Amino acid sequence: MRKKIVAGNWKMNLTYDEGQKLTSEIVNMYKDESIKDVIAVLNPPFPHLLPVKKLIGDTSGILLGAQNCSDKESGAFTGEVSAKILASFGASYVILGHSERREYFKESNDLLTAKVKQALANGLTPIFCCGESLEIRMAGTHEANVKFQLTESLFDLSPEDFSKVVIAYEPIWAIGTGKTATADQAQEMHLALRRHIASKYGKDIANATSILYGGSANPGNAKELFSKPDVDGGLIGGASLKSRDFIEIIKSF
Ligand code: PEP
Repeated sequence: MRKKIVAGNWKMNLTYDEGQKLTSEIVNMYKDESIKDVIAVLNPPFPHLLPVKKLIGDTSGILLGAQNCSDKESGAFTGEVSAKILASFGASYVILGHSERREYFKESNDLLTAKVKQALANGLTPIFCCGESLEIRMAGTHEANVKFQLTESLFDLSPEDFSKVVIAYEPIWAIGTGKTATADQAQEMHLALRRHIASKYGKDIANATSILYGGSANPGNAKELFSKPDVDGGLIGGASLKSRDFIEIIKSF
């Protein structure tokens, strides 16, 4: 059985008070509405980690994640945050390779390999993002492009390490645009990625890998997306900032 995961990516949003309010609401709804079998991951900006962790407390099923980590272990890298530090503050997950980081911070496939290795070495689960631009989708080379991102950044990992990674397929043209991939488009890519993983690591590992969809997912489209056999959850941006929407997405399974 693959893990079902819905991860909220707050990006660079919410003040301290806003983050506390959102977290309290999510924790209460998650408990009150008896959600089971779906892991919720909250990925706030770094300063929120500890206070959000405190509000999550021992709520079973809700976990803490970060939006990035350094590719270095420790040392004189001003402004960076290591995987080791994140783990020490109670994070369990870290989003890596988000298209915004690839585009605005020029993160390369090689750099992402180093970040993934740092995350794994410190017990964090990487949520590794991949996805194609609109241009590539129009050219019809999207499958090859996304498989290449996995090959380049992840296929160096041992089978044991790879099996700890979560994949998030996020077509860039769907992120924050209100334009969702259709459930069939998501399924097609997820299946292609699963087969690609199987070609390298074998069917057992491929079948156990959670592959999330991200890109304008919301309470109105999550049910159809999650009904697809290879869609194991979502990475949610905008809709993760509204407690009711986030919870409704989780309940769409
Ligand atoms: C994201 O940033 O990972 C994302 C999927 O954003 P949105 O849901 O807002 O498209």
